[in-house]
Amino acid sequence: MNPTTLFIDVCYLAAALLFVLGLSGLTSPRTALHGIYLAEAGMALAVIGTLLDHSIITYEWILIGVILGAIPGALLSIWIPMTAVPQRTALCHAFGAMAVCLVGIVEYMHFSGDLGAARMVAVGFEVVLGALTFTGSLIAAAKLQGTFPGRPLTFYGQNYFSFALLGLMLAILGYLVYLQAASVLFYVLIGMGLLFGVLLVLPIGAADMPTVIAILNSYAGLAASATGFVLGNNVLIIAGALDGGSGFILSVIMCKAMNRSWANVLFGAFGAKVQGGAAAIRKDLVYNDTPAQDAALLLANAASVIVVPGYGMAVSQAQHKVRELADLLENRGCEVRYAIHPVAGRMPGHMNVLMAEAEVSYDKLFDMDSINNDFAHTDVALVIGANDVTNPAARHDKSSPIFGMPILNVDQARNVMVIKRSMNPGFAGIENELYYNSKTRMVFGDARAVVTQLIQEIAENSD
Ligand code: NDP
Repeated sequence: MNPTTLFIDVCYLAAALLFVLGLSGLTSPRTALHGIYLAEAGMALAVIGTLLDHSIITYEWILIGVILGAIPGALLSIWIPMTAVPQRTALCHAFGAMAVCLVGIVEYMHFSGDLGAARMVAVGFEVVLGALTFTGSLIAAAKLQGTFPGRPLTFYGQNYFSFALLGLMLAILGYLVYLQAASVLFYVLIGMGLLFGVLLVLPIGAADMPTVIAILNSYAGLAASATGFVLGNNVLIIAGALDGGSGFILSVIMCKAMNRSWANVLFGAFGAKVQGGAAAIRKDLVYNDTPAQDAALLLANAASVIVVPGYGMAVSQAQHKVRELADLLENRGCEVRYAIHPVAGRMPGHMNVLMAEAEVSYDKLFDMDSINNDFAHTDVALVIGANDVTNPAARHDKSSPIFGMPILNVDQARNVMVIKRSMNPGFAGIENELYYNSKTRMVFGDARAVVTQLIQEIAENSD
């Protein structure tokens, strides 16, 4: 075997191993950073191996592509706020999928419609998955950014239309395998893939976006894997399969966290504008607007506190202050723990990342299932910028779009304290009945400012 080919194979093998080790590192916050370094090293080896490939004719265009891609990529990563990471992820899927689709088109042109049946099937899946992931991810990014309405956009018979489109695409692909030179149909197939991506994401409601991003992640991986088959590139097949598999597993985990089925997410138009019930603004009910001084007094006298962080804590970047407050309370003999809901924030693991950034010890972070029974024996549930994940309507109100989603049992604590800026709803756009519970004290203001004030009050009172 030629030494360069051997070196490329070794690079690819090592890259594949590093990807697997990287993914296994990402399963725990403790090892996540290490996992990312391993995966990055794997990606560097995969790129080096690919650049040594003898079929590369000139490096000039590759260099231009690297520069054109690296500049916006780096700027996007540096400037994008943590809270907009889901949109950024969706954009990355869109660009990756577009690249995959373009590679498929080039391969089709390169072989002038004579690819052989197996390769034609791979190219067909590559362009269809690439095209639908491209438009689907763009719509998902626009919905998450608020450029597009977050609620499901549907039309009469939409699911039937989508199924018919899917059936037609499969039929065209079958025909293309039989008659590969039918290039007009090949481009029609791509056009239908683009349309299918739009139809796939438009009817999905904002609250289901975490799952959709994971599903699109899975499609992007499968499309890359198909590219690997077309190009005969083993590392692309492996990396694509790992990406597709992990995206799929993540979407299943997210569905479980929200107590929803996959089919329901894709076809249920969840999060549609709700009428009455949970959506109605309850002007008739009163809530307890509590000054920070009173809230500090309650916290200072608590023996146990469970902090429930949410999206608002991320917006206000209050995590460091929250840890400071927890340290202060612990020094006074209070037990402080953190309850992490799987879909709190705007991306899977969002709260874990923030709390890790604030150097909160991992053994104080509890997932929903392991802490939910403890709220009933806790003096104060301190909700900081979390909303939907604490809404008791999810348990009993069938008209609520979050009905069935497991929530944190915050309302069972002896006292509930909610820090947020107003009575405005959270991501799902619905009223939270927790705020009208007689045990709940609303402390209004930006999370970081309020927590800072609480720290000052408690510290002054202990002097
Ligand atoms: P929510 O979006 O339900 O609520 C966040 C709350 O934070 C708002 O009610 C807002 O109220 C408050 N807030 C915003 N800014 C501030 C601030 N500066 N200071 C204090 N409070 C603030 O968040 P949750 O974490 O409870 O729930 C997550 C929701 O997002 C779920 O519906 C989930 O499905 C969805 N989602 C989750 C994703 C994931 O992967 N984790 C991805 C995409 C969506 P106010 O304006 O009054 O301050």
